[in-house]
Amino acid sequence: MNLHVNIYSLGCSKNLIDSERLARRFADKGIDIAFDEEIPPKGSVTVVNTCGFIGDAKEESVNELLRFIDLKDRGHIKAVYVMGCLSERYRNDVAEQMPELDGIFGKFDWAGIVDEVLALQKASEIKQNAATKPWDRVLSTGPHYTYIKISEGCNRFCAFCAIPLITGRHTSRPADEILAEVSQLAANGTREFNIIAQDLSSYGRDLADTSAEPLADLIDRMADIEGVEMIRLHYAYPSDFPYGILPVMSRRKDVCKYLDIALQHIDDKVLTNMRRHIDADGTRALLERIRREVPGIHIRTTMMVGFPGEDDAAFDRLLDFVKEQRFERLGAFAYCEEDDTFAAKNFEDNIPDEVKQARLEKLMAVQEEIASEVAASEVGKTLRVIIDEYDPDMQRWIGRSEYDSPEVDCNVFVEADEELETGKIYNVKITDSDGFDLYGSIGH
Ligand code: SF4
Repeated sequence: MNLHVNIYSLGCSKNLIDSERLARRFADKGIDIAFDEEIPPKGSVTVVNTCGFIGDAKEESVNELLRFIDLKDRGHIKAVYVMGCLSERYRNDVAEQMPELDGIFGKFDWAGIVDEVLALQKASEIKQNAATKPWDRVLSTGPHYTYIKISEGCNRFCAFCAIPLITGRHTSRPADEILAEVSQLAANGTREFNIIAQDLSSYGRDLADTSAEPLADLIDRMADIEGVEMIRLHYAYPSDFPYGILPVMSRRKDVCKYLDIALQHIDDKVLTNMRRHIDADGTRALLERIRREVPGIHIRTTMMVGFPGEDDAAFDRLLDFVKEQRFERLGAFAYCEEDDTFAAKNFEDNIPDEVKQARLEKLMAVQEEIASEVAASEVGKTLRVIIDEYDPDMQRWIGRSEYDSPEVDCNVFVEADEELETGKIYNVKITDSDGFDLYGSIGH
């Protein structure tokens, strides 16, 4: 009998891609796989793909590992393996504190789990498939939408961020390899491609034969691929922004007018101490140009409150900036000191937790109102909506517009006279909003 492997994926969409690639390697060996089973079938193997980004994520990863170790101790599952950012960053600590784990892998050597699991199963039962390409995956999402990682690592070294310590230097994937992956997925029915990178802005600058605008060229070529209907861009860095992407976004219907660009703050002193290589004037000029060149664009950003030295005046500047810019989508974090980062070594974490929390709540209350007004302003428009699923209780189809990334943004609840097709894109007339999500109809 084949082993059943449950891949439990925590953290960001970049981690999810590694989980999907691991799943493909298992599937090609004839091993049954599933994603995110809370209680996996008896006798199965669980792989936990961990996140080591910030305190809460690390705690969640540790708790999930302990939960699966407990299931193993009670004889419910056969083995537990760990991979991902937490075990990359704290490999020795994980080994010391969780000796019950059957194997510890990191962010780059996770393919080794397959051999260990195969050793649990007799070689004669293993089905081989020699044709697996490095990017091949079993999609856990769609199959109509997916994430495409175009580079790994980051050279920016923002003061608060541990990611470069985990993922290493920025390395772009060659464009031809990315386009081959997208072509293969599109041929198999994937329509929406969410492009991700730690630092989207630097894409291609490290490649040998690259054009002056490697990101713009990549996205332009990607949009030419038959079957590609939505390309959405995530995690741009504000300094050295690749402006060539803006005309592509403006001109091409299949490239969503959406940009996820973390700005973190607006106060000059805080930005300098964060090592963000941009100031308030530069940030405003960047936003003005993006909105001018791509009319109607929806911008998602991330802000951080409570960074060392953020006094009341600096926080008020951030609040005023958010009110002024009216970002369509915004998330925020409270600063959390991370081991070995520049900030941990050079600044005292001097903002009390309750102050950080109060600032976070104040900022999010402002944003909630803006988001609600943004949602209301969509009423009366016709938006391109990709259908994710049908909700029988609501008797509506659930989809997302080109302005809505999976998991983080709004849903569009669609009424239709006819049966819709999951993964297909429809023009939906927006009829209502409820503060965050949208309601619309087809054929009414
Ligand atoms: S750009 Fe800054 S915040 Fe983003 S991954 Fe790199 S170091 Fe971290």
